[in-house]
Amino acid sequence: MTQEQSNKPDSRKDFIREIVAQDLEANTHGGKVVTRFPPEPNGYLHIGHAKSICLNFGIAAENQGVCHLRFDDTNPARENDKFVNAIEADMRWLGFDWGDLKFFASNYFEKLYGFAVDLIQAGKAFVCDQTAAEFVNSRGTPTRPGTESPWRHRSVEENLDLFSRMRQGEFEDSAKTLRAKIDMTSPNIHLRDPALYRIRKIAHHRTGDAWSIYPTYDFAHCLSDAIEGITHSICTLEFAVHRPLYDWMLENVPLPRPRPRQYEFARLNLSYTVLSKRKLIHLVDEKIVWGWDDPRMPTISGLRRRGITPDAIKTFCATVGVTKYDGLTEAALFEHCIRSDLNQKALRAMAVLKPLKVTIDNLPEGYFEELEAINNPENETAGNRSIPFSNELYIEETDFMETPPKKFFRLRPGGEVRLRYAYIMKCQEVVKNADGSIHHLHCTIDPDSKRGGATAGRRVKGTIHWVSATHAINAEVRLFDRLFTVEDPANDASGKEFTEFINPQSLTTLANCKLEPSLAAASPEAPYQFERTGYFCLDARDSTESHLVFNRTIALRDSWTAARQRTHAPAGK
Ligand code: ATP
Ligand code: MG
Repeated sequence: MTQEQSNKPDSRKDFIREIVAQDLEANTHGGKVVTRFPPEPNGYLHIGHAKSICLNFGIAAENQGVCHLRFDDTNPARENDKFVNAIEADMRWLGFDWGDLKFFASNYFEKLYGFAVDLIQAGKAFVCDQTAAEFVNSRGTPTRPGTESPWRHRSVEENLDLFSRMRQGEFEDSAKTLRAKIDMTSPNIHLRDPALYRIRKIAHHRTGDAWSIYPTYDFAHCLSDAIEGITHSICTLEFAVHRPLYDWMLENVPLPRPRPRQYEFARLNLSYTVLSKRKLIHLVDEKIVWGWDDPRMPTISGLRRRGITPDAIKTFCATVGVTKYDGLTEAALFEHCIRSDLNQKALRAMAVLKPLKVTIDNLPEGYFEELEAINNPENETAGNRSIPFSNELYIEETDFMETPPKKFFRLRPGGEVRLRYAYIMKCQEVVKNADGSIHHLHCTIDPDSKRGGATAGRRVKGTIHWVSATHAINAEVRLFDRLFTVEDPANDASGKEFTEFINPQSLTTLANCKLEPSLAAASPEAPYQFERTGYFCLDARDSTESHLVFNRTIALRDSWTAARQRTHAPAGK
């Protein structure tokens, strides 16, 4: 496709890409596309941020443009370098590269101060002594106009003097603000003389104690965009009401043209989780989860630790698309993207999560042979591996039932199952503990039933996985469930706090799992499909050489949707 063709408005494009294409055609920004991703370094990135990253970096890449990484660090109270580093690491892991286009809003503090002085000199900003409560009261409501601050008509000289003394640290926190002088009767409340600077005597993670005043988001963001020559400033819908202020600021501060323009899209909301940073911080601070990278968190580092790949995240973001309407995206859609990605990538392995010992009586003590298993039926190049078979096996506790219901096709007393990649096995005897629970099974195999044998084609109804007891390695396995029990914990109709809906069963730890020996070489983030039980990966943080920990990324099937469909199915079905 030529540059010209690719810039033509295209009905398959989302509305933002459409706008960018039109701007390129009209040469609005001299043929340039410069976007930015502006995280505030006060928390870790989550899946919603990934959507914004994909959009901003995607648009830049598709149009031979660039995307800046700009840390929006104008509020020193909760920002720090730890978050800066975590954000960069997560973005790199996702596969995004900003080259040397990394910026900090705090780099512009001096310039921004200068712009504020320009506004004061033009009679468009004033120092206000109202308290926070007075400020809110005099602002009015959407239906009732605000009233002007008594400090609104200070002279330019007095404003310049007070603003410079605010900077010097002469006044207490919140004693004064710098406000734009716009219109207290505007129907848009954000235009009613909004605050531009606040006094905050807090050290900043980059500028230290140099500043006692910090610019507000509304002042700093648009001007940072302009300083960097951003062409399309893409943010989420809640900022649509701030757009007139964004434009006012750029109109009234002497800056080169063409100016950046702001566009808003619907933020990602995902069911059964929360994506508000404030709520995620609460989960971490209150130790409701292990930390930012808890595998149950919707954070990039949590998803990563859980075994979800950058590809799955990016496919999901592309699937969700870019719209102007807020909604709740089904977790099941994300899970579908995760499964299809892992189905292609994950090597298959056998692992028994709840072991039941089996002795094969028609094999000699110490019997050993190597059998061949397929690494990934979806990928021919993944090849085969050999797995040890012996006269002592582990099978899943749940694959045996003494008195099974009708459609139970796995092992029962006197019954037969196929051992995956191996023989047909028959249960001869059940040995019990004193309390009546099952201790182990005695079985026999049909020695001709393995691949190539005389009875290899003999059909039995069930196939189960197994590991050789003498060769198995031990591991702890963690099964995760959704972190919340309701679809939209932050906006539940009951009005309860989101923390009331934490799923008490979101973590199950299985301490005594038996894995095929090849898994000793597993590296963190390498995805595995444990046959029949799901996708797993080694936990990078908690595994040691002598204690392996695997996390279940996701089960093989979507039991939630299936269960819900059953509950919602019309009677008689
Ligand atoms: P806060 O609630 O602290 O403002 P935030 O989630 O908006 O947090 P930022 O660090 O300000 O976090 O976000 C950086 C960028 O990511 C912003 O441009 C924001 O619009 C975008 N973003 C944040 N959350 C989502 C989301 N759920 N879906 C899409 N984009 C998002
Ligand atoms: Mg924000």
